[in-house]
Amino acid sequence: MNRIGVMTSGGDAPGMNAAVRSVVRTTLDKGAQAYAIYNGYQGMVDGGSKITPFSWADVGGILHRGGTIIGTARCNAFRERAGRLEAAANLLKNGLSKLVVIGGNGSLTGALLLQSEWSSLLSELVEKGIILAETAQSHPHLSIAGIAGSIDNDLPGTDISLGADTALHRITSAIDAITDTAASHQRTFVVEVMGRNCGYLALMAGIATAADWVLIPESPPNLDAWEDKMCSVLTHGRKIGKRDSIVIVAEGAQDRHGNPISAEYVRQVLEDKLQEDARVTILGHVQRGGSPSAFDRNLGTIKGTRAVEALIEANGSGLSALIGLVANQFIRADLKTNIEKSEAIHNALKEKDFATAMKLRGPGFKESFATLRTLVRATPHEHPKESSKLRIGVLNAGAPAPGMNTAIRAAVRLGVDRGHSLFGFYNGFKGMIENQGEFLDWMSVNGWATTGGSNLGTCRHLIEGRDLYAVARTIEERELDALIVIGGWSGYQAAQTLNEQRLNFPAFDIPIVCIPATIDNNLPGAELSVGADTALNVIVEAVDRIKQSAVASRRVFVVEVMGADCGYLALMGSLATGSERVYLPEEGMDLGDLRKDVDMLISGFRQGKRLGVILRNENSNPTYTTGFISRLFEEEGRETFEVRRSILGHIQQGGHPTPFDRIYATRFAAKAITYLEQQVDNSEPESICVGMINGSYRYTPLHEIARQMEKEFNRPKVQWWLDLRPIARTLAQPNPQFNHNSGVGD
Ligand code: ADP
Repeated sequence: MNRIGVMTSGGDAPGMNAAVRSVVRTTLDKGAQAYAIYNGYQGMVDGGSKITPFSWADVGGILHRGGTIIGTARCNAFRERAGRLEAAANLLKNGLSKLVVIGGNGSLTGALLLQSEWSSLLSELVEKGIILAETAQSHPHLSIAGIAGSIDNDLPGTDISLGADTALHRITSAIDAITDTAASHQRTFVVEVMGRNCGYLALMAGIATAADWVLIPESPPNLDAWEDKMCSVLTHGRKIGKRDSIVIVAEGAQDRHGNPISAEYVRQVLEDKLQEDARVTILGHVQRGGSPSAFDRNLGTIKGTRAVEALIEANGSGLSALIGLVANQFIRADLKTNIEKSEAIHNALKEKDFATAMKLRGPGFKESFATLRTLVRATPHEHPKESSKLRIGVLNAGAPAPGMNTAIRAAVRLGVDRGHSLFGFYNGFKGMIENQGEFLDWMSVNGWATTGGSNLGTCRHLIEGRDLYAVARTIEERELDALIVIGGWSGYQAAQTLNEQRLNFPAFDIPIVCIPATIDNNLPGAELSVGADTALNVIVEAVDRIKQSAVASRRVFVVEVMGADCGYLALMGSLATGSERVYLPEEGMDLGDLRKDVDMLISGFRQGKRLGVILRNENSNPTYTTGFISRLFEEEGRETFEVRRSILGHIQQGGHPTPFDRIYATRFAAKAITYLEQQVDNSEPESICVGMINGSYRYTPLHEIARQMEKEFNRPKVQWWLDLRPIARTLAQPNPQFNHNSGVGD
């Protein structure tokens, strides 16, 4: 029988538990045996009870927990051959030569070393009589599937490592809170975030919190007198009305001579040069802790499944893979190549070859840094040339989505910085019809990066009949050269209408860019829309709380989530909370399904289950409503469990945007401005929606988007995330073929 071991090693990272759960349950689902190795390499060296078979139930109820339930450690013994010899002996005692290693750079380097020495270690063990020759022969190779777990996000081979998104959540909420107090006292705060060799957290937190200055290891200030430059930016900010200033310093920040720049040094500089009260906050270990974000839970879950699949497919042939998420695709990258690349970055940093370090981090990192540099400016560049300026209208459309304000702010600042003027319309297209709005200058969007809702106002208004004349008049009166629409499907449709009516209304002959912003994530041309990540986190936090409320009872919760005709929130919410079942509009449901689900629940509760969660998308079936399903389950499960329903409702559209939504909103706005500049001299300007597909920005022409939508339902014909359904099904219910107890929790 196949045996697969899983371990977590090095620094702990939120999401490791999701990965362990997924590795164990996927292994069991395939009829193989799962082993946990406690405390990383220390457990491997110690052996005994530190390497133990794990059951389905052993990984129940852990998705929401931070840290790692199987422990992690730093192990010096493993750095020596003698320690690795012990480790190999202990693995073989348990019949293990297939491992999922979840950890950082050091842990994965250790795994590679063990793999390269495997046959010589085994020969030595046979020679010493510790293992039999047959045992060595039946495990000729050590197979490894690595999962990068590191809040620093410092590993190549994956766009993001486990824990980085949660760390960004912790950092942004801390900085949001600090900003409030900084503004109250007109104070500057210097915030140190983790990242000894990698500025990812500092850079992304800088974008997400609208910080005023950011110092990262990969791109030291290119001036010797960078302190003066920083102070002049902060002073300028104060002069134009900013009450708070935030400087973010990565742990490993340095100047271009390689001298460390500490948060304390920055504070001293600010105090000396600005005669201003500055405070230091070192965020420290709060960045590692706490419940994992929805993204990290799903990242750990999916990578865990893919790791087991890779090991089983490789069939003991000595796999050496890093399970990466690259361009929104889960891939098997070569472990060695990526560890070498990681070393190359470290060496480049050591040798102060910052250009190489920045290049090796990849284009997304470089581009984000360039965007940040513009956004942190206290005032825009001077633009003497009137002729090159564009007059750009901006508006929100559709239901509110967290991140709409962030996108407006970025469009305004990036646009104004390039010499354009931005006019914001109130209440979506209604504002265009009524010609209501205001010019937005640099400071008018101050503080907009972090707030939920829509400060300009938004509405779902489709443009028809006389509206067309009114909108045309507004465009002419405001002399608009271009339009940016940030919103959902109704916004896209309105933009499309203007585009189609160009022959009748010459005023509409301007380029329009739509930026996807809806919690439903139901837009063509974009794999993810701004707002969906925030809504998903709201759902996950709510379900966590709902589960806690049921500690003393045997209860099934039917939780209804938004999404209209798109099941994205329901499915991803189900994966992240480990719900027993999810009802999606894409699949629908019939009475037979409900019957099976009731039976599944009754059998689970009879075997000891205490809690069940069913997630239902609001439009999954018009007849089998949340109320109907709850009543049906209540009636059928009368003797075994109670049923409660919970309709999460509009809390899903509110709240501060998550770091992910803020970063995407900013990036899309940057792309929108660049696109409009390219179109200005085009005699037939094309209107588009911007999005990210397979990791690249895409501009999809508006006339094409209708073809990409399912006519009957407001959702794209092709939805990438539907491929994740088998994982949700596998991890929620044990495979009866292998006789696992189904009476356990999530
Ligand atoms: P991380 O995996 O988070 O980078 P560390 O660098 O501390 O954390 O590595 C975790 C563990 O991996 C170490 O305590 C050690 O047991 C093992 N390890 C790290 N580097 C090596 C190496 N070069 N050779 C052998 N083992 C290593």
